[in-house]
Amino acid sequence: LVSIPVSMAVLLVMVVSRFLLKRNRSMFFQLKQALIRREFVLQYQPQVDANTLEVKGVEALVRWQHPEKGMLYPDVFIPLMEEFGLINGLTDYVIDASLKDLSAIQLPEGFHLGLNVPPSYIKAPARWVYLRQKHREFAAKGIRLGLEVTERQFLDKEARIALETMRQVGIEILLDDFGTGQTSLSVLQETKIDFLKIDKCFVDSIGHESVNTPVLNAIINLGKLLGVTMVAEGVENEIQANYLLERGVVLQQGYYYSKPKEIGDIDIRLSHKPELISALL
Ligand code: C2E
Ligand code: MG
Ligand code: MG
Ligand code: MG
Repeated sequence: LVSIPVSMAVLLVMVVSRFLLKRNRSMFFQLKQALIRREFVLQYQPQVDANTLEVKGVEALVRWQHPEKGMLYPDVFIPLMEEFGLINGLTDYVIDASLKDLSAIQLPEGFHLGLNVPPSYIKAPARWVYLRQKHREFAAKGIRLGLEVTERQFLDKEARIALETMRQVGIEILLDDFGTGQTSLSVLQETKIDFLKIDKCFVDSIGHESVNTPVLNAIINLGKLLGVTMVAEGVENEIQANYLLERGVVLQQGYYYSKPKEIGDIDIRLSHKPELISALL
């Protein structure tokens, strides 16, 4: 009586895991193929000085130009690439492609490029050599290379040591999505960073009676206390832009200024008012 349900359960587990394995394997090959076929493309989002509207830098954001499904966004494929161990290969590709893209246009000296890098990349010593080499190539073109890392990386001592090593050779470190993770203040004090990116969820709270607004103000004060440059992300309107500017957050990124665009469409001198720019989007 007992043996029938047990054997059925075993069978069910076998069938389901075979199905998942097969699905996973096909996804793995699709992503690997996409890397080989160079189906990934980059868009760039300006980081703007809110006082002068000058574009001080860009963040590179990867997309998958899928042959059948069209443009796919990173939230769909980055976690899978991490799971399948393909993320370091993608990161190499992003670094190379952005160097090629930015070399093709005229940029002011000291222009910043922000690249999103996963923990596995930061911790691989073989990648340090590569990063230093690329950093020199970017520097030769007057571009400052910055690594956007999340608080997840900051929880890991090994990753923090790697980041310090990169910073010593002049690579900038940006702490991304700040305020959403679990960075302790002591870690933040002992690990030097160059930029702190205030997460969109805090910017969203501006103008609403939200619990996040006092937290936003605390983050801004913390940034000042630590002496790091702050960048606000996800700025979508003039109220948010002014609120942040009045509190000293000069560098801003968001749809209010520009959506991520192909390199050829980036206007590095936003001479016109952002209202007009957003109207054109
Ligand atoms: P992130 O680094 O925090 O990037 C900011 C995300 O917010 C981007 O989404 C950007 O398009 C979006 N964004 C910017 N301004 C606004 C705004 O005003 N309103 C709204 N609603 N959204 C805005 P995206 O491109 O879909 O990227 C999502 C995440 O994927 C990134 O978050 C980053 O963690 C990851 N990612 C992107 N590119 C790469 C990459 O090359 N490598 C790795 N490892 N991760 C990447
Ligand atoms: Mg980022
Ligand atoms: Mg971010
Ligand atoms: Mg974010």
